[in-house]
Amino acid sequence: MPATETVTGTFTPPTRFAVPGRIEVGSRAAGRWQTATLTAIRRETPRAATFRFAVPEWAGHLPGQHLMLRLTAEDGYTAQRHYSIASAPDDSGHIELTLDHVEGGEVSGWFHTVARPGDRVEVRGPLSGFFAWPGDRPALLIGAGSGVVPLMSMVRHHRARGLTVPLRLLVSARSPEELIYAREYGPETTPVLTRSAPEGVPVGRLTAAHLAPLMDDRPAGGWEAYVCGSNAFAEHASRLLVAAGQPVDRIRVERFG
Ligand SMILES: Cc1cc2nc3c(=O)[nH]c(=O)nc-3n(C[C@H](O)[C@H](O)[C@H](O)COP(=O)(O)OP(=O)(O)OC[C@H]3O[C@@H](n4cnc5c(N)ncnc54)[C@H](O)[C@@H]3O)c2cc1C
Repeated sequence: MPATETVTGTFTPPTRFAVPGRIEVGSRAAGRWQTATLTAIRRETPRAATFRFAVPEWAGHLPGQHLMLRLTAEDGYTAQRHYSIASAPDDSGHIELTLDHVEGGEVSGWFHTVARPGDRVEVRGPLSGFFAWPGDRPALLIGAGSGVVPLMSMVRHHRARGLTVPLRLLVSARSPEELIYAREYGPETTPVLTRSAPEGVPVGRLTAAHLAPLMDDRPAGGWEAYVCGSNAFAEHASRLLVAAGQPVDRIRVERFG
């Protein structure tokens, strides 16, 4: 079970950040459980699916933020997990989460095998200002597996708002079939396929060679780097970034554990 976190403070609009990129999340929104009604399920890969929820009183979020989700069984037993918000911020009253089906997983297992449109769960958030991208600075996004979920919210936000600030995504997956959101990627994205790839496409893990062109071509003021994935992937990507010259204090890491 991921550690719980306490978020305090009052909401500050993105344009008024005192410290670039660091936001405060309203304690009222983050502290209150809200009912989320599942409205649609969309398969992304054999192991991952996107779950769309109506959350009429959702206070909004910034790309990169996550929420706490709670399931309650009939006997009162509860299970809580953190999930990144996959959708871009909008005023639709809906949010989307993309869940990997973890083998033997209590919460992801329920979503993948039991959940149906109309089911209700509870959510609390948005949480974490640190991993949020307000859309105001060049962003270099590096994710693996479901670690691409918060990064996709950033890519979608970038597109939806027609932002011109540079944004690049390096996304690692074992194979094209396991690449979440494969149909949505555009020229901003470089897939890194570690086990199998179409003919002519290299197979292998993320290396310095993937980062070099992006670091050589870095925008004025440099990149803000966002890394998300397993502990091992986050360590690996962060080490490569530092070796490529990315300042340590401009690497934001989210670990899915
Ligand atoms: C900030 C944050 C954001 C997250 N966002 C997402 C997201 O967008 N999409 C997503 O799919 N997951 C995300 N996770 C992971 C998520 O919180 C759960 O850990 C995951 O869904 C497994 O929960 P479960 O109840 O299905 O498995 P559990 O019942 O908790 O665990 C079952 C077994 O799987 C192992 N396990 C637990 N978590 C993982 C994992 N992530 N990978 C591999 N094995 C694991 C456990 O050690 C255990 O053996 C996020 C985690 C954090 C901390």
